[in-house]
Amino acid sequence: MAVRSFKYVIVGGGVSAGCAAREFAKQGAKPGELAITSKEAVAPYERPALSKAYLFKEGFARLPGFHVCVGSGGERLLPEWYKEQGIELILSTEIAKADLAGKAFVSAPGETFKYQTLLIATGSTVCKRTVASLGTFMESMHVIIKLTAFKVQRAEAKNIFYLRDIVDADGLLEAIKAKKNGKCVIVGGGYIALVLGAALKINYLDVTMVYPEPWCMPRLFTADIAAFYEGYYSNKGIRIVKGTVAVGFTAHDNGEVKEVHLKDGRVLEADIVIVGVGGRPLTALFKGQVEEEKGGIKTDTFFKTSVPDVYAVGDVASFPLKRARCLCCGLSTSTMLATSVLIQAIKAAEEGKTVEEYDYLPYFYSRSFDLSWQFYGDNVGDTVLFGDNSPTSAKPKFGTYWIKEGKVVGAFLEGGAPEENKAIAKLAKFQPQVETVDQLKAEGLNFAIKYEAVKFVKLLVYYRCD
Ligand SMILES: Cc1cc2nc3c(=O)[nH]c(=O)nc-3n(C[C@H](O)[C@H](O)[C@H](O)COP(=O)(O)OP(=O)(O)OC[C@H]3O[C@@H](n4cnc5c(N)ncnc54)[C@H](O)[C@@H]3O)c2cc1C
Repeated sequence: MAVRSFKYVIVGGGVSAGCAAREFAKQGAKPGELAITSKEAVAPYERPALSKAYLFKEGFARLPGFHVCVGSGGERLLPEWYKEQGIELILSTEIAKADLAGKAFVSAPGETFKYQTLLIATGSTVCKRTVASLGTFMESMHVIIKLTAFKVQRAEAKNIFYLRDIVDADGLLEAIKAKKNGKCVIVGGGYIALVLGAALKINYLDVTMVYPEPWCMPRLFTADIAAFYEGYYSNKGIRIVKGTVAVGFTAHDNGEVKEVHLKDGRVLEADIVIVGVGGRPLTALFKGQVEEEKGGIKTDTFFKTSVPDVYAVGDVASFPLKRARCLCCGLSTSTMLATSVLIQAIKAAEEGKTVEEYDYLPYFYSRSFDLSWQFYGDNVGDTVLFGDNSPTSAKPKFGTYWIKEGKVVGAFLEGGAPEENKAIAKLAKFQPQVETVDQLKAEGLNFAIKYEAVKFVKLLVYYRCD
């Protein structure tokens, strides 16, 4: 089998790889220097679209419409663009073995790739733990089934989906078409589960969401924030079953899922099941060869790993945050900025120079139905809720501030206009001191808007004095 050598290789062909290619081109990488190896059959695309516009009934998104980097406001990189730049896009090629010490890796069909600088961008994989750990219960189900002569299948039953890539999304679309007006059970109450619940409802499915936590998205939402979304979803006709988990499935004779069995004994009919229980960084290829932290590949603020000439970025990377507690595994919202810093750091290192540290402000957003929220900063400390968070309001608009040691460290806003979202982002970035929590309660969103205005005036004064 052939051995191919490149100056730079990116393993993984997702959001980070596309953004990195764009920055490599900007930084003057020469034709033939960069290769991207991807398991997927298509050029890098905006993965978040898969749970949103890709599933819309009208005005839906399809490739090439959402190739990277349109999601972060950049240009759309079509497959031809990579050709024009002399960037090798090696698609449908899974990397099976990595040898970081030998600066080489091997694809599943046996082709060897050598590199001088490696960028790991393998992203994350769906977490099948919840379903996989059905173990004991499923075993007992098998016994019951044998006794009752019903056919039971595990998580492999047809029409059980884990949405990660475009192939999964196409499978889900087919099922939506085939099961028109059918029943859909969403396992999970997190980020993707909530978006998918809305998308399936828009497609006229009868949707039930099941999750064990007392409210949806507990890692980010307070009980008050969650109460709004749960109320809103209920009003749209989505049933929410909390405090229990899915522990098994039954299937029809044709292998299609038929029922979801819950731990509390309830059984839900289902034509489609979507498991949205989170992801895990895809580090397996590099296990034991590179330092890991919090489940991801540990990097410094320049995305350097513990191995020389090896960098990691995106979902697979754990990099330190200045303003928040956690080491953050990437989100697509930060990818363009992160990859710019990373490629500039690689290029600068080649010339013996350095670049400014990457100072990422944690940012999450989501959209479902006609709702849209943004969050910036850290969700730690006391909270203050403001605005109209009634799920029955014609135009709900509300938010929450997180206050730690007298400073606003995080801010959430539903229904904000672009300039209002900008204002809460500034607040989370500069973390102003607050006199009293009551002041925040009384001023609500105005606190952020006033702060933005005052900062702007201060900047103007500074500029004039200068
Ligand atoms: C359905 C869905 C909805 C989302 N919605 C949002 C959202 O609304 N907002 C948001 O900020 N984020 C969202 N995300 C998360 C966001 O998509 C990720 O943070 C982002 O894609 C991370 O980019 P990445 O390059 O690290 O990984 P990915 O984009 O996942 O790319 C990883 C690539 O590596 C490839 N790969 C993995 N292993 C190998 C291997 N061994 N050999 C070759 N190739 C390999 C994969 O096939 C894939 O192409 C969503 C994710 C999903 C799945």
